[in-house]
Amino acid sequence: MTKWVYSFSEVDLAENQVGGEWEGVRALLGGKGANLAEMTRLGVPVPPGFTVTTEACLAYLDEGGQFPDGAWEQIIEALHSVEEVTGKRFGDAANPLLVSCRSGAKFSMPGMMDTVLNIGLNDEVVSGLVDATGNAHFVYDSYRRLIQMFSTVVLGIREEPFEDALAKHRASQGVESDSDLTVDELVAITWEFKTIVERYAGRPFPADPMEQLRLAVESVFRSWNGKRAIDYRNAAGIPHDLGTGVNIQTMVFGNMGEDSATGVAMSRNATTGEPTMEGDYLINAQGEDVVAGNRATNPLAELADHMPKAHAEFAAIAKRLEQHYRDMQDMEFTVEHGKLWMLQTRDGKRTAQAAVRIAVDMVEEGLISKNEALLRITPGQVDFFLHPSFVPSSLETAVEDGRHLATGLNVSPGAAVGVVAFDADLAERWAKDGRDVIMVRPETQPDDVHGMLAANGILTSRGGRTSHAALVARQFGKPAVVGASSIEIDLMERVMRVGDTVVSEGEWLSIDGTSGHIYLGELDTRIPSVDNEWLTKLLSWADEVRDIGVWTNADYPRDAQRARSYGAEGIGLCRTEHMFFEPDRLPVVQRMIMAKISADRDAALAELLPMQREDFVGIFRAMDGLPVTIRLLDPPLHEFLPDFEELMTDLTDLKLRVKASSTLTEINELLAQIQADETMLRRVEALHEANPMLGLRGVRLGIMLPELTRMQVRAIFEAACQVAKDGVDVHPKIMIPLTAHVNELSRQRAALEEEARAVMSEHATAIDYSFGTMIEIPRAALTADEIAKNAEFFSFGTNDLTQMTFGISRDDAEKAFLVKYLEDGILDANPFATIDPKGVGELMRIAVKKGRTTRPDLEAGICGEHGGDPDSIALCRRLELDYVSCSPPRVPVARLAAAQAAITDAGEVAVAPV
Ligand code: PEP
Ligand code: MG
Repeated sequence: MTKWVYSFSEVDLAENQVGGEWEGVRALLGGKGANLAEMTRLGVPVPPGFTVTTEACLAYLDEGGQFPDGAWEQIIEALHSVEEVTGKRFGDAANPLLVSCRSGAKFSMPGMMDTVLNIGLNDEVVSGLVDATGNAHFVYDSYRRLIQMFSTVVLGIREEPFEDALAKHRASQGVESDSDLTVDELVAITWEFKTIVERYAGRPFPADPMEQLRLAVESVFRSWNGKRAIDYRNAAGIPHDLGTGVNIQTMVFGNMGEDSATGVAMSRNATTGEPTMEGDYLINAQGEDVVAGNRATNPLAELADHMPKAHAEFAAIAKRLEQHYRDMQDMEFTVEHGKLWMLQTRDGKRTAQAAVRIAVDMVEEGLISKNEALLRITPGQVDFFLHPSFVPSSLETAVEDGRHLATGLNVSPGAAVGVVAFDADLAERWAKDGRDVIMVRPETQPDDVHGMLAANGILTSRGGRTSHAALVARQFGKPAVVGASSIEIDLMERVMRVGDTVVSEGEWLSIDGTSGHIYLGELDTRIPSVDNEWLTKLLSWADEVRDIGVWTNADYPRDAQRARSYGAEGIGLCRTEHMFFEPDRLPVVQRMIMAKISADRDAALAELLPMQREDFVGIFRAMDGLPVTIRLLDPPLHEFLPDFEELMTDLTDLKLRVKASSTLTEINELLAQIQADETMLRRVEALHEANPMLGLRGVRLGIMLPELTRMQVRAIFEAACQVAKDGVDVHPKIMIPLTAHVNELSRQRAALEEEARAVMSEHATAIDYSFGTMIEIPRAALTADEIAKNAEFFSFGTNDLTQMTFGISRDDAEKAFLVKYLEDGILDANPFATIDPKGVGELMRIAVKKGRTTRPDLEAGICGEHGGDPDSIALCRRLELDYVSCSPPRVPVARLAAAQAAITDAGEVAVAPV
């Protein structure tokens, strides 16, 4: 008979069942159940209970909502064991056992699935419990909570009627908090709640504790397939076939009076990573009060004064759990009449900054190895350091103009700007329309997640650091400010107010999740520096283990400098055409293209030469000591000329104006202009190609217009000689784009090296240079042994190589059918983002292998967009490339990804990132 239920004291059995792996225990019992059992094994005080396995959940869902054979019987048996341990009986009015029923999947999905507390109460049990405890306030408070939670979670009734009833009673009593309601009020509320159940559910609240339990378990099972859980899993990349465990646990009560409390805490600061415990608690309250944000919580440090013994014990347990799990813990606790109970521990969610600092600190504390620290940080978390913050001057102006609106808790760093949307659906819709949105809510619920994901940032007026909004924002790296209590949100009128200031839906707002400040209007943002002490250290460890270089694609000195400060070890691609598009150069480039005779072309090229030289001087200086790969002109020439349609419209315009002009000078001027435009039009027509991507571009330009590439090589070498004289250590690499045949390369090489030698001898300076080619065409990859005869290096242009291998236009595919291909699973991943390993990757493998048979020391790198993609980096490493080259902001990410590839390829299993 399958074992569907494990007591918290049976973790050894669960371990045996899955073959000893802790990940297997987590998969079987869910993260929460596994950790409750583990805490029990460690001797930490955990209220007794048991877990119904994730397998039972999957079987229940598979069987169309039927408990699998024996599961319900095992639940009853386990419940009896809990009765024995606690000496209480489920449904017994004299000495009742009350239990909670909570979901818990392998990976934590905060608030996504169901929880019901206080199961086991009914009218009889309630009166017995009042007699036994002498605390009618506590008993009725617990009862009304059961009815409310059970009804909303299990029976699917909306919160509003219950919340309205509570609000009415609070108002009539003139109290702020539910815990201040009198016993009589609570009794009346309980009655009202029962009527609400009858009215909305068409059935009475179930008085039978067994029925309560069964329905609650089934509801947790079903919540695995609820919309919000599915949305969350899609966003968090959690598989859909794991199922959830169900944890049935003896209730302990934080709402038993002034010597009772409940709280949540992180063993380190989840926002900054500082090694100090942080958390919130409430005296005389139950768990959800702390996270719901409708009562002001106390900071955990104050518990040391309120309940010194419980606080000290909790601090010791937190430390112990952290040491045991070797990670920052997120814990829930309850103090019942002074006795501490642990209700949950799990690896805590944290900001990117905190993740990095905690990983580094833990290495230094000797808790984890450097490699573990490297595997714990996701490339996305490194990326987060490059997220925007407000431009200081823009911030100053906002403050001077009195646009500082309010301050809340800074729970998820980063600056975000957008228009206010007061609900998740609208936030999602506006974001889809391309608008920047800040989602503003009093507090968020699990079914708001789609809006939060779509928004640039999140703002709430209620809630604490551990509120739903804070947790979700942190996990997804969304800037968020929560608990901005001076903001009053009126959802009916769709406005928010702070004093006399009113902000309507659709108005601009800027929030700073790093500081907690909120500003009216649209502030300017900027990319922050990655100069973070802990990130710098972590990346230096990455550099120690990675065995593939990280270079950058940079066209301008400022990009080169930035990439270098991020750790780039060379330039893998400098696209020279970008310089040709500068407004002062374009007319000269056009003249060069239009030239009918070579004298005119030479004159235009002579004008371009010093400009190009200055470009290279700047880049060489910025990359002093490092290699700089300069690619000669690549795009088809028509890209530098005006668009055909535009010229036609211009001409029609000019002709109309001739008719309308009155003076001869004016007519003459217009006719000259018409003549120029017509010449240009003829050239545009002549250059027109049906398939420009497969036309006169790349190396073909150099073959057809050798003066052009010669000019570029002259500019490169003149610049190199010039800076070398100033003591710069310069290493240019001349790169030919789009080679298909070795003969293209050999011809270009001969011509270009001749030019290079000429410049070097003119300057009497020897430059350490190399000559190579991009591999962007399948034929080049397949004939790499021949190509390598004329190339000292290969650089894979995987943008073009993907385009040519798939026969899919890189410019149009995403617009047309690629999205459908991805949705329908025809392709697993976008091949323009992640290298297609079987096709493009195989061509690369062949090219490297064949190339190195001819030239064993052939250097190989990648400079297509894939060079910054972690999966592609791992592939490049396996293909034994020497380096990857990516845009400057991807450099830190690539350093980490390269290290992770080296560690995982060496057989160290990735630790599941938080
Ligand atoms: C490539 O094709 O991958 C490449 C780097 O060149 P470009 O994107 O400029 O065509
Ligand atoms: Mg290319």
